[in-house]
Amino acid sequence: MYDAIVVGARCAGSTTAMLLARQGYKVLLVDKATFPSDTMSTLYLHPTAMTLLERWGLVEQLRAGNAPAIRQWVARFDDVLLTGFPWSPDGVTESFAPRRTVLDKILVDGAASAGAVLREGVVFEDVLRAGDVVTGVRCRTKAGVTFEERARVVVGADGLRSPVAEAVGASRTVDRPSLTCAYYAFYSGLGEPVCSMYARARRWVATFPTNDGLSLVYVGLPHAEFPAFKADIEGNFLATLEAVSAELAARVRAGKREERFVGTADLPGFFRRAHGAGWALVGDAGYHKDPCTAQGMSDAFRGADQLASAIDDGLSGKKPLQNALAEYEQRRNERAMPMFEWTCRVAEMKPLSPKMASLLAAIKVSQEDTNRFLGLNAGTVLAPEFFAPDNIARILAAGPAASS
Ligand SMILES: Cc1cc2nc3c(=O)[nH]c(=O)nc-3n(C[C@H](O)[C@H](O)[C@H](O)COP(=O)(O)OP(=O)(O)OC[C@H]3O[C@@H](n4cnc5c(N)ncnc54)[C@H](O)[C@@H]3O)c2cc1C
Repeated sequence: MYDAIVVGARCAGSTTAMLLARQGYKVLLVDKATFPSDTMSTLYLHPTAMTLLERWGLVEQLRAGNAPAIRQWVARFDDVLLTGFPWSPDGVTESFAPRRTVLDKILVDGAASAGAVLREGVVFEDVLRAGDVVTGVRCRTKAGVTFEERARVVVGADGLRSPVAEAVGASRTVDRPSLTCAYYAFYSGLGEPVCSMYARARRWVATFPTNDGLSLVYVGLPHAEFPAFKADIEGNFLATLEAVSAELAARVRAGKREERFVGTADLPGFFRRAHGAGWALVGDAGYHKDPCTAQGMSDAFRGADQLASAIDDGLSGKKPLQNALAEYEQRRNERAMPMFEWTCRVAEMKPLSPKMASLLAAIKVSQEDTNRFLGLNAGTVLAPEFFAPDNIARILAAGPAASS
């Protein structure tokens, strides 16, 4: 009998298991994958994720790896160039884009060294129930052996398609279609340890320096264009780079692609019910959005932090478990919804309007405003706050149009 069983051992699951195990709870962590292993991601850790990794004592391990520290973003919106680093309330000034083979291994080891029992290569099949209450899981090992384990709470941290959500019947409370699609690949020889981003003609391109001297090069485009892009991935990828920046295209052509292209058009936006009798969801399993604002890992870490504390409240008797889990879901929704709406807006990939181009030119004048603008996609500055009429008037009054 465990206190908690966590299904899925990446950003959301390993950290939930680690935090519970550190508080002395008996935790089982299962994943069908084995670690280290890769998963789809452009790797960038925003300041919120860095703050939590620091608090959990895991940043030193990232620093000890060979992913370069990132201290600058170079963002081009059509012809407006902004350079800075996303504003952070915690004063974070550097970040990383570690390979998931590296980051997820640090997380899973963090859970195991805190005392969680880790079982890799184990497929979750179904939940066990006593009446309406979830009381455990039925799983299958790679060798085909089926086993059951029981716990006071079962956590689904099993990603976008979440078999746990399916098993408990967690309905979607918000449901939006995929708006974009994406392809990326790893290149050597690109140099410069900065993140760059280009938005032009309904295309986004971004580069992220990562481990082993590689850079991840990402192309995002409207969802409807996926079949046409897929018909000639390399040709369309290079043509897109050329269309947004001839300089970047030349650097990529001079470098070497080291791995195959990875792509997806399965990028829906949704919230699922995140709790019920004896179960909870965390990370992508409970709340998914387009990757254009790179919020997934920050949300998974924040969700793990909030869920572990709610489970502790419930299991320690501070509150009835159901009340604690209901508060967790409410807090998650309140915190995530404004950023979810912003992400959906960005994912529409609307061309830059003349009004927005003037605003960007004014933002560029101040480093503080530039960093706060970059904080919009980092999730550290909320859109209603940044686009408040007073703030926009202040920025425009100090901009080049006002002073000319
Ligand atoms: C193209 C793309 C780019 C992205 N870029 C970024 C970025 O730059 N920054 C960022 O913060 N986020 C990014 N994200 C999002 C981020 O990768 C995810 O939000 C994050 O990894 C979610 O973590 P998770 O732990 O919730 O789920 P997952 O990482 O999906 O982990 C779920 C785990 O559950 C396991 N599992 C599933 N089913 C079962 C089963 N039946 N039995 C046992 N185990 C099971 C899986 O094996 C997996 O290991 C990106 C996503 C995409 C698609």
